[in-house]
Amino acid sequence: MIKTSKSESIAANINIGVVGGAISACAIAILLHRAGANVKIFERSKGNLEDRGVGLTMKISTLNEAIRRDLIDADMPYVPVWQRTFGRKHTSKATYSTPWNDYWKQPIAFHANHWGVLYRSLRKRVPDNIYQAGSEVTHLRENDDQTVSIRIKNKNWQTFDLVICADGYESLGRKTLYPKSEISGAKYFLWRGMIDESTLPIPSMYESCIPFFGYPYGHGFVYYVPSPKYGAEVGKRRVNWAFHETIANKNIPGITPDDKGFVRKGLAPGEASVEQAAYCHKIAQKYFPTYFSDVVTATKQPFIQPVRDWNVPSYVRGRICLMGDGATLSRPHIGGGAGKAIDDAIALANSFEKHKDLDVALSHWNDERCAAGTEVWEMGRTLGYHLVESTPDWDSMDSKSMDTWWKNIMKDRKWFWVDEVVDWHPTENARSCSKLC
Ligand SMILES: Cc1cc2nc3c(=O)[nH]c(=O)nc-3n(C[C@H](O)[C@H](O)[C@H](O)COP(=O)(O)OP(=O)(O)OC[C@H]3O[C@@H](n4cnc5c(N)ncnc54)[C@H](O)[C@@H]3O)c2cc1C
Repeated sequence: MIKTSKSESIAANINIGVVGGAISACAIAILLHRAGANVKIFERSKGNLEDRGVGLTMKISTLNEAIRRDLIDADMPYVPVWQRTFGRKHTSKATYSTPWNDYWKQPIAFHANHWGVLYRSLRKRVPDNIYQAGSEVTHLRENDDQTVSIRIKNKNWQTFDLVICADGYESLGRKTLYPKSEISGAKYFLWRGMIDESTLPIPSMYESCIPFFGYPYGHGFVYYVPSPKYGAEVGKRRVNWAFHETIANKNIPGITPDDKGFVRKGLAPGEASVEQAAYCHKIAQKYFPTYFSDVVTATKQPFIQPVRDWNVPSYVRGRICLMGDGATLSRPHIGGGAGKAIDDAIALANSFEKHKDLDVALSHWNDERCAAGTEVWEMGRTLGYHLVESTPDWDSMDSKSMDTWWKNIMKDRKWFWVDEVVDWHPTENARSCSKLC
């Protein structure tokens, strides 16, 4: 049994292996290494992860806590987003000042980030001597003395007091603990892309705002994220866009559903064929207001993100923890994967600080984070149903019917965290709307 003296952290001197080397892995490794644990990270990829990834959205309180804990730079660039609008094509001609018709506005509160920028800020706090790139973990074994052994591809076994699987959507930890668990797919997917802000004809349309454009097969959206090179400097940011597309009864070049009708395989940036890119551009031009379809069409290489999810019944078994996407992957409608991964890591470090017995610390963490994971997983499914699989007739909606529609979807839940910042939210109607958001 691992216990500590009164003054010592439970983490002090215990041996911890972390499987994976991205967002949740770096966050937990930094915190537990500082608390005195002997941490080793095993990341499968050899190359620099920083060069990959596009946009993501994060809760403001998570970013503030990550700064307070010195997980990321206090001046890490971000783009604040305070409002979501729902727009559609004008029935008459669009003009420069009104390129589409907004029929609903809603206060929201998140900071848009770039995956590479966030990763860079975390990774530089992980000492190089504890980060082993090019090390794929192939096996996990629980031993009789409560330790856990892992096998690194083409290398020997190594044994730890605790193994944290922060290994994302293909998690070996999840497959080992829940061998019968299946990743759920969806009968829709996301077209995605990114272009430079400098290429936009009316950049102000997206300032502080995330416009949504409904269509019969889901919706599109667009927001600014910082550029890895120039940060959040106006004029030099990146424009992150996406739209969903359902797959049933369609002939989408190169995209074939499995026998359940799910889209399992995506397209990485750079992989789209000429036919696929042309198809994506054509859909955008057919259904969306010109100014959004222009952004899509300006993207020479759109890519495809499949939609999948799962949620495990427990984040802990013995001395194995599952964390981040390895434990709960929610559909992307929530936009909170990276934030939830950092929240998981901070909560585990907090539990280590609070409790003096390792099993007690793990059990408290499990109760807290498993419940949080289940909530986002369920909400991702609900939003996917209403925003993509069973959309309202967007053209007939107005501000009042949108309020009712949203209230019925959310019931008592909150999305995009306005309540956390309601006292200083910059939009006028944040306080009156916070119940709806
Ligand atoms: C390179 C990259 C780019 C991303 N870009 C975006 C983005 O632009 N927008 C967005 O919303 N989300 C993005 N994500 C996903 C996002 O990071 C997660 O949804 C969220 O942050 C939770 O992260 P995680 O650390 O739990 O899992 P992940 O980010 O999936 O990281 C898991 C890590 O574990 C490693 N790994 C997996 N299996 C093994 C193994 N057996 N042995 C060793 N290592 C293993 C993987 O290589 C990966 O680096 C990206 C993920 C990665 C890895």
